[in-house]
Amino acid sequence: MEQGQFLEVVSVTKNYNEDRISGVNNVILSFQEGKITAIVGESGSGKSTLLKLLFGLLEPTEGEVLYKGEIVMGPIEKLIPGHDKMKMVTQHTDDLNLFATAWENISSLLSNIDIDYKQAATEKALRQLRIYDLKDQRVADMSGGEKQRVAIAKALITSPEVLFLDEPFNQVDASFREGLQQTIRQIVKDTGLTVIMVSHDPAEVLSMADDLIVLKDGEVVEAGTPAEMYSKPKMLYTAQLLSHCSVLNKEQAKICRIVASRRYVAITPENVIIIVPRFGKKKWEVMQVLFKGFYEEILLEKDGTRLRALNIERGKYPEGMMVNVEIKKYFEYGQWL
Ligand code: ADP
Ligand code: MG
Repeated sequence: MEQGQFLEVVSVTKNYNEDRISGVNNVILSFQEGKITAIVGESGSGKSTLLKLLFGLLEPTEGEVLYKGEIVMGPIEKLIPGHDKMKMVTQHTDDLNLFATAWENISSLLSNIDIDYKQAATEKALRQLRIYDLKDQRVADMSGGEKQRVAIAKALITSPEVLFLDEPFNQVDASFREGLQQTIRQIVKDTGLTVIMVSHDPAEVLSMADDLIVLKDGEVVEAGTPAEMYSKPKMLYTAQLLSHCSVLNKEQAKICRIVASRRYVAITPENVIIIVPRFGKKKWEVMQVLFKGFYEEILLEKDGTRLRALNIERGKYPEGMMVNVEIKKYFEYGQWL
């Protein structure tokens, strides 16, 4: 299949009201088969609307979604909304029966005509999601992360070709998220499943996704690989979505000895180098030290200007300490986007 023919969004607009303020506007996109694409954007930017349009849960106001060259039908044309080859999992695990076991939930979508197949497929899905040992446990007694694994196993049992995940890890404890993300990556690798996910966690999208799409006010404003977008975000908006960057205006940039030619400067924490010279004035004060596990984020201040720095030598820069900084790299932006 030629690239661009898998899942395509052709000039799609979906407005909830008569205006063009809500929903998404004139979206043109092409998704790669067998990859994980993450859609990022601030709350209300249209991420969920876009997923629902792709899946066929919403009717476009204009334009069309094509799956393998055929129009994805919306809820008006289709009795059971949602494309047959696709599944969606959200942060709400509502469609699970809390009082049934993992096995019962996952197998419930398969008929009893072929019991052997049902058994085998259920076991396979449980193993893929690494919850085989929980098969006889009631969903009500499970943690958020385990419930989400059951929901994904249930979604995968009918072998969909595309899986949509709308902020699926929100109810999952941070320490279990990474394991679940790895599991999904492994499934994609093993089965060729295409995953399109929405997330607002920068760490998650950068480590999980093959491609990133940035939405702002219902429009696609930037797209590329996580590495490209992190190392060279075209928009300040993207830089802020993908990192804990410090944003300074021209005057504040001067305090960091940056002569900016544009209006704003963004500096990611790893590019703020803390220096403690033995002699001379030290002008930045360590205001806060945020413990992050194997590293710390250090909030520095000078003349009301704040910078966020990364430090891997724990305890080296205690609160109240005076230091100097050197900026290794920064981005400049023309306007607040
Ligand atoms: P996101 O998932 O990025 O937070 P949504 O796709 O849910 O954004 O919403 C995009 C915009 O469309 C928002 O301004 C939201 O208020 C509006 N919107 C979403 N769903 C509806 C709806 N059912 N009726 C009216 N407006 C909606
Ligand atoms: Mg949403």
